[in-house]
Amino acid sequence: MPTVSGHGQGEVPSPAMVRMTDTLLASPDRLLICERLRAGHVPGPGEWCTHPAHVGRPEHHPCPIVRLMNLVEGLAGRGHAA
Ligand SMILES: [Zn+2]
Repeated sequence: MPTVSGHGQGEVPSPAMVRMTDTLLASPDRLLICERLRAGHVPGPGEWCTHPAHVGRPEHHPCPIVRLMNLVEGLAGRGHAA
């Protein structure tokens, strides 16, 4: 995973996330991939995402993965793909 530092991490997706979004939107397996990527990314105690991917680097839920999936689904829902 690329590390992002020195840039505001607000609601603006990083270039890597934008590329991944484009890739997912162009993929016929988008829904399946999104489902798999999102699996396990659920809020736990203190609203921390419980997915093991965040071990050692906790992320609040919704974590960047969930936000990315929401972004992809939002774009797809607007008829960007298909
Ligand atoms: Zn997560």
